[in-house]
Amino acid sequence: MNTQELRALSEEHSAHNYHPLPIVIAEAEGAWVTDVEGKRYLDMLSAYSAVNFGHRHPRLVEAARRQLERVTLVSRAFDHDQFGPFAAELAELAGKEMVLPMNSGAEAVETALKTARKWGYEVKGVPADQANIVTFEGNFHGRTTTIVSFSTDPDARNSYGPFTPGFRTVPYGDAEALRAAVDENTVGVLIEPIQGEAGVNVPPSGFLTAVREICTARGALMIADEIQSGLGRTGTTFAVEHENVVPDVYILGKALGGGILPVSAVVADHDVLGVFKPGQHGSTFGGNPLACAVGREVIAMLRTGEFQERSRTLGAHLHARLGALPPEKVREVRGRGLWAGVELNGKARPVSERLMERGVLAKETHETTLRLAPPLVVSQQDLDWALDQLEAVLTEM
Ligand SMILES: *Cc1c(COP(=O)(O)O)cnc(C)c1O
Repeated sequence: MNTQELRALSEEHSAHNYHPLPIVIAEAEGAWVTDVEGKRYLDMLSAYSAVNFGHRHPRLVEAARRQLERVTLVSRAFDHDQFGPFAAELAELAGKEMVLPMNSGAEAVETALKTARKWGYEVKGVPADQANIVTFEGNFHGRTTTIVSFSTDPDARNSYGPFTPGFRTVPYGDAEALRAAVDENTVGVLIEPIQGEAGVNVPPSGFLTAVREICTARGALMIADEIQSGLGRTGTTFAVEHENVVPDVYILGKALGGGILPVSAVVADHDVLGVFKPGQHGSTFGGNPLACAVGREVIAMLRTGEFQERSRTLGAHLHARLGALPPEKVREVRGRGLWAGVELNGKARPVSERLMERGVLAKETHETTLRLAPPLVVSQQDLDWALDQLEAVLTEM
């Protein structure tokens, strides 16, 4: 089937909850994808960081293939030989003691919220059903009913009420507002160290440090949602490292599955994740053998630091070139490492469409932001070529 026929099938038979660019991908390798007509495109989105290591990285494909020949699913009713090592290795990568594996990012966020509440009641001593969790304006933490309860994006929220109570929202980057919102019943502060979906918003310098101090002073858990910002994207393993901040809880997902399957996890110390007893939380697929085998290879690849280093050096180059774009076309560039939100002086959708015609896949977020997040394996030559295309598109518009 050709592009048009395949697009028509999707249009007719799948819910219209996305507005994809009009191409149909058939194959991918490294930083490049090929559509059903045989045309090649450079992937400058990386599935929102899920493909940090590029498409079908040989080490990850090999780890998956090896595991496919052994055992793929047993459920958590039984232990398997990939589970303990995965948990130990992921905990070590994060400098924590324990891991609770799930599948999608949203499930891991839900798990972190349940962790904070349970910890609040059973360890901190908050009176029953009085716990609150503070979140930030512009947040994106996933799509479940509870998570959209504290979203400030009308598209994410409207028509999904009634909402889960127990959340307060303050402006992102405003330490004083956070200080005022946290009280004795606050069990957690849920924060993206850089807001991805909001448009790659980097908080003011010192903000993450202030969040850490406020959480410590009031005995609330600092919960860092590193699902999109973590695992090398910003030039460090975790984005909180840019301020040398250590949260109480990490939420990981996306790249943890190596671009092969969904793998997510909550990572924290024993005094936090130790609140769970058998039967109190779970997931049929969470921590399955295939997920753990791929996750272990991801962790091994991150241990060398080479992907973080690529993101740092290529990211500096990316930001230098984006910073030189004409100010009448580009209002602001935000981001860290190989991650950028390019704030345009007009709509971003036509830019991503023209980029696609030129063989570059990027995606707008909201009206006027173009998000760039190439796989960390991208070559400087390919990156420069993509930036040449962006320059050309902005010039012709
Ligand atoms: C993508 C994302 C999520 C949700 O992950 P899913 O796997 O889509 O459920 C949560 N938090 C952040 C910061 C994300 O970028």
